[in-house]
Amino acid sequence: MIIDSHLHLDFDEFAEDRDAVMARAAAVGVEAYVTIGIRVRDSARVIAVAEAYDNVFCTVGTLPHLADEEHDVTADEIIALTHHPKVVGIGEAGLDRVYGNAAWPAQTAVFAAHIEAAQRTQLPLVIHSVREDEAMAGMLREAHAKAPFPFVVHAFSGGPLLAETTLALGGYFGFGGLLTYPGNDLQREIAAALPADRLLLETDSPSLAPAPLQETRNEPANIVLTAQLLAKLRGTDVGSLAAQCSANTRRLFSKAFAARSA
Ligand SMILES: [Zn+2]
Repeated sequence: MIIDSHLHLDFDEFAEDRDAVMARAAAVGVEAYVTIGIRVRDSARVIAVAEAYDNVFCTVGTLPHLADEEHDVTADEIIALTHHPKVVGIGEAGLDRVYGNAAWPAQTAVFAAHIEAAQRTQLPLVIHSVREDEAMAGMLREAHAKAPFPFVVHAFSGGPLLAETTLALGGYFGFGGLLTYPGNDLQREIAAALPADRLLLETDSPSLAPAPLQETRNEPANIVLTAQLLAKLRGTDVGSLAAQCSANTRRLFSKAFAARSA
């Protein structure tokens, strides 16, 4: 069994053929999905997809790129949305000045609201962090010193500082297409060395298609390409790796999977 722990099934890219996309994924062993919100105030959209399929769960959050739009989002507002049975996590939220151009004070304020929501609910926080290892590690350490919370750094692209901080705080690492790209040797080294119980598989569909499909719309069936590479990096077989990652995903997103895990 494979779980795609991070993708965007509600995006327009899947409006025409979502069922076919999910059928192709099922054919290669993908059995469940965590579809990720990017705008707290548009959560109805991601919740609707989760409501439409038994094996789809969702999160609610504000992507750092959209932090200007939702600069005044509060933990209370996020927590109210998590009362929905299909909402199993918070995010994606975080820090990114490479792809996102929202003002930095808005990014940090919005991220802090998501951290507070994770602290108060103990639902996992799905973190988006691009080239902000120092700021991210600092915010995570400071927040955990006050009140720990579960989290995953999705599409992990950080270096040793963020990897060590994530490990020390009990966090998880999400790996998808980025792991397969030329130039990401550091992430491959990190992925090879991490404890097996901290790894999650994801696709971030429709973005970040794994090599050699970079130029195409990503879809969850492509998770197999990342799983094959990660298994090879770690000297294991793809079946055991997928089973381990699925067990990790079920542990982290326990609101979705606790009742179902064997
Ligand atoms: Zn995403």
